[in-house]
Amino acid sequence: MNKKPNGLLYRQILTGKTVFMSFLIAAVLTSCSKNNEEIASEAETNAFNVKNVKKGQLNGQEIIYERKNGMNFFQGDIVLTDKQLAEGSEFNKGGASYSRWPSGKIYYTVASNMGSINANKITTAVNEYNTKTNTQWIPRTNQTNYVEFIFGSSSGSDGWAHIGYQGGKQTVSLDQYISVGSVIHEMGHTVGLYHEHTRKDRDQYVKILWNNIQSGQSYNFNIYSSGTDIGPFNINSVMMYWPTSYSKNGLPTITRADNSSFTYNRTGFTTGDINTINAMYP
Ligand SMILES: [Zn+2]
Repeated sequence: MNKKPNGLLYRQILTGKTVFMSFLIAAVLTSCSKNNEEIASEAETNAFNVKNVKKGQLNGQEIIYERKNGMNFFQGDIVLTDKQLAEGSEFNKGGASYSRWPSGKIYYTVASNMGSINANKITTAVNEYNTKTNTQWIPRTNQTNYVEFIFGSSSGSDGWAHIGYQGGKQTVSLDQYISVGSVIHEMGHTVGLYHEHTRKDRDQYVKILWNNIQSGQSYNFNIYSSGTDIGPFNINSVMMYWPTSYSKNGLPTITRADNSSFTYNRTGFTTGDINTINAMYP
């Protein structure tokens, strides 16, 4: 299958500031719901450095990820530890399917520089998990294994997170523009969820428009077949990419399989999301 985007020429012609401005314009055209600072930040992080793209293995499957700021970014905003990648050639190791939080209890801390606005978003998101799912997010006292919410805008779009239970301290990073729905999304990675569009059965439900994807970013749309698909495909999932994710031209990169558009959900959990998490944490 031809997954190679026609972006090489585009990248060679447009360099430096021109590339930045073209991303900025595309972002402005496609991200009406976002403010200007967020758009500029996304445009900068989208100025992609191809040489940082690496091949590795996760849960016995070859994957492609980006090495950035000393971290390994998979599917855009999922951070894999070096240990996960080192164990990646072994099936049943390294992947999120085999790294559940014991008893569904997730202890957490919030960095002191988070600010009250984001702290309130975290509280709202924690309440969503604690009232609607079988996971319990509990403020840490002295537990060894926990997640820290840190404040930072580097390395991702509006947030990133380690996937599944890692042991020791792991991280959810949130920038100042993140929505509650996106906090729920990042916490979904902590719980062990990958992105909906990488399910094995996704081609029955969505179409990937490879030619609209920014040069060097198409690997973010690869199917991750070593994950465990739970329940039916859910295009409204809080874990679904948005329709113009990594678009180079403002046109959709994902549509429904019948070519029609879909609505991007970052308002919160769908029933399917809740059922999936509760199947993982019965
Ligand atoms: Zn994500």
